[in-house]
Amino acid sequence: MIELRLDLIGPRHLPLLLSACPKPAVVTCRTRLEGGAFRGSESDRIAILHAALNLGAAYIDIELGAFSRVKETIDLKRVIVSAHFFGGRTRDVKSLYRRMKATHAGVLKFAYSASDSWKMVDVLTFLELANRDGRKAIAIAMGEAGEPSRILYKNLGGWATYAAAEVGPEAAPGQVTGRTLRRVYRAPALTRRTKVFGVIGNPVRQSKGIYLHNALFHNDHLNDVYVRFPVVDVGRFMKVIAPRLSGFSVTVPHKEKNMHYLSSVSGDVATIQAANTVLVRGKRFVGENTDAPGALDAIEARLAVRGKHMLILGAGGAARAIVHEAIKRGCAVTIANRTGSRAQQLARATGARSIAWKEMVRQRFDIIVNTTSVGMIPHINRSPISPREITAQVVFDVVYNPPITKLLRDAQRRGATIIPGTEMYINQAARQYVLYTGRTPSLAVMKRALRGDA
Ligand code: NAP
Repeated sequence: MIELRLDLIGPRHLPLLLSACPKPAVVTCRTRLEGGAFRGSESDRIAILHAALNLGAAYIDIELGAFSRVKETIDLKRVIVSAHFFGGRTRDVKSLYRRMKATHAGVLKFAYSASDSWKMVDVLTFLELANRDGRKAIAIAMGEAGEPSRILYKNLGGWATYAAAEVGPEAAPGQVTGRTLRRVYRAPALTRRTKVFGVIGNPVRQSKGIYLHNALFHNDHLNDVYVRFPVVDVGRFMKVIAPRLSGFSVTVPHKEKNMHYLSSVSGDVATIQAANTVLVRGKRFVGENTDAPGALDAIEARLAVRGKHMLILGAGGAARAIVHEAIKRGCAVTIANRTGSRAQQLARATGARSIAWKEMVRQRFDIIVNTTSVGMIPHINRSPISPREITAQVVFDVVYNPPITKLLRDAQRRGATIIPGTEMYINQAARQYVLYTGRTPSLAVMKRALRGDA
C-alpha cells in the first residue's frame, strides 16, 4: 500500500493522486497536534477524508479523538483509527486499546515516541491484546530506540508497518526505508516463529552487525533476523525485551554492565569480566566473549604467538580481552597506556608486564596491537605512536573504521605485516554466528556484507 499524506502534499490533487496510485492507497491528513501539517478547519479535513473513501482509497486514517466526527454511514472496515503520543508513552495502554477497539474501525494504529528500547513494551502489550481479539493492529515505537518495532511487525503480530519511500523525507522519526526493510531485514517474510537476534549498545547506529548477520541468515535460508537495540537502561532491557530474543551481541558501553544480569558465563568471560554475546536459553542468559579469540585468530593467521612478545597499546575493555587471550596462547605481553596506572592494574590482573608510554621506543616487540580508539573516524590522520616507534614485524589495529588506519599505513611503509580491525570484527561475528545458529558462516558473504555490497 502507499500512504498519501495529504497534510504534506496538499489535498488539491486528490482525485488525480488516487487514480494514478499504483497500489491501494491509505489517505491520511494529520493535524499539527497529531504530528501533521494540516492547517485548514476540522470540517474541511473530515470532508477530505470522506472524499478519499468515495474516490476509492483503500483506507483512510482518522485519529481516535476525531473519530466521532466521521459519518456513521462510512465503511468502518476501511478506516484506520489512530492514536499518536509524541511526548512518550501513554499512561494506560490497555484502556487506550479498549477505546480504540470500541470504534469498530477495521485497523487500530498506535504510535508513540520511545527514548529507550525497553519502552517498546507498550507495542507488545497493544499487539497482544489485538491478537487475542483477532483485530488488525499496527503498533510503532517512534525514534531510533523503537526501530525494531517497525521491522518486527509480523513477528509481533502486527498487521502492517510504515516505511519511508527514500532517505530524507521520512514521515515519522525512526522510519526505515522500504528498501532496507526488504533487502536487509526481509521484514515481510518474517513470521511469529522467526528467531530474533540483535545488538545492544549506545549508540548502535554504526554497528555493521545488521548487514553481516542478516546476510548470513539469508544465505543459510534461516528465517531469523538481527536488529539494532539502542539501550540506555540495561536492567530494564534485560527484564522486558531480552527474554523474547534468542540471543544478542553487546557493544560499548554495556559489555561490562550486562555481566550483572547473566545467569552463567563461559570461563573466559569470568576472567575478562566482559561479555560481547548473550545467548537466551529459556529464562537464562548465558554470557560469552568472542572478541578475545576473534582478535588472536586474526593475528595467528599471520604469526603463531606462542613464545612471542606482544606490545598492547591501551588498557580498556578491548585490551583486557586481548591480553587475556594472548597470555592463554603462550605469548608474553607488555602493556602501555596513556594513563599508566590502568596499564599497571591490567598487568597485575592478567600476569602481563607494563611499561611507561614513553619507554616503549626503547624496547623491541614481535607484535604491536593498538587497542585504543586513536585513528578512528573522524580522526583518521592520528596514530597512537610515531612511525619510529613501530619496531615490530606484525602490527594489528583493533580500530575497524577506517579499515586501514594511519598506524597501519605507517607500519606498512616500514615493511611490517599489517592486520586491520575488520578481521577481528569478522572473526568475532563469525564465532557469534556459530553460537547463535550452530552453523559455520560463509566468510565470502561476511566480507561482501561488510563492504556494503551484499
Ligand atoms: P575503552 O574501554 O574505552 O578503552 C579505550 C582505551 O583507549 C583506553 O586505554 C584509553 O586510555 C585509550 N585512549 C583513548 N583515547 C586515547 C588517546 N587520545 N591517546 C592514547 N590513548 C587513548 O574502549 P574499548 O572498548 O577498549 O575499545 C577501544 C577500541 O577498540 C574502539 O575503537 C573500538 O571500536 C575497538 N574495538 C574493535 C573491535 C573489533 O572487532 N575490531 C572490537 C571491540 C572494540 P586511557 O585509559 O588513558 O583513557
